[in-house]
Amino acid sequence: MGGIGSGRGCWRSKNFVEETRFITSKWVKAHLQLLQKQPLQVNWHQGKESLGSASVSLVNHNQLFVQYKYRRSCEGDWSTVTEFIPLQFSACRYGGSRVWFICPKCGRRAAIIYVDTVVACRSCLGLHYQSEYEDDISRLQSKTRKIFDRIGHDYVRPKGMHHKTYECLLSKANELQISQDKLIEAKFRKLVQL
Ligand SMILES: [Zn+2]
Repeated sequence: MGGIGSGRGCWRSKNFVEETRFITSKWVKAHLQLLQKQPLQVNWHQGKESLGSASVSLVNHNQLFVQYKYRRSCEGDWSTVTEFIPLQFSACRYGGSRVWFICPKCGRRAAIIYVDTVVACRSCLGLHYQSEYEDDISRLQSKTRKIFDRIGHDYVRPKGMHHKTYECLLSKANELQISQDKLIEAKFRKLVQL
């Protein structure tokens, strides 16, 4: 079988982050200009084995359209999955901007979106970390979550919170998410080629 989503690997649902296909917001940022002109194909590899691919395009400058084929078991039928993922752009402290995904399932901001039975964030897909970075990532995530519990998830300054406090907390949350990204990318380097 050829075409998008094919590959010798199966698209079985996995429980671990390390075994799940994903797209990083950093990749989207790096390919924004190209994506504005044409859809791009994302390929996942483990060693020499293809783990399948997806077609990714940009819609209305602020949504990612992801299309891929999925099957629950190696013998099962392939079904095509399509998903729109809203993007959010935030300014960086030292200039430029950063791209985030808004999880289509829970509406929370994510630096990495996972491509499985559906496209969603790690917590919506119930994915766990397998290995050595788990403690570091969990610690960063718990810090980030505490900040978002204070400022809310809708990126609107809560009533009564001083503007400066809000900006400071938001910027701290951004930094924490960037640190998480770095750790997660270090884990995934072997698994993925985009
Ligand atoms: Zn989610």
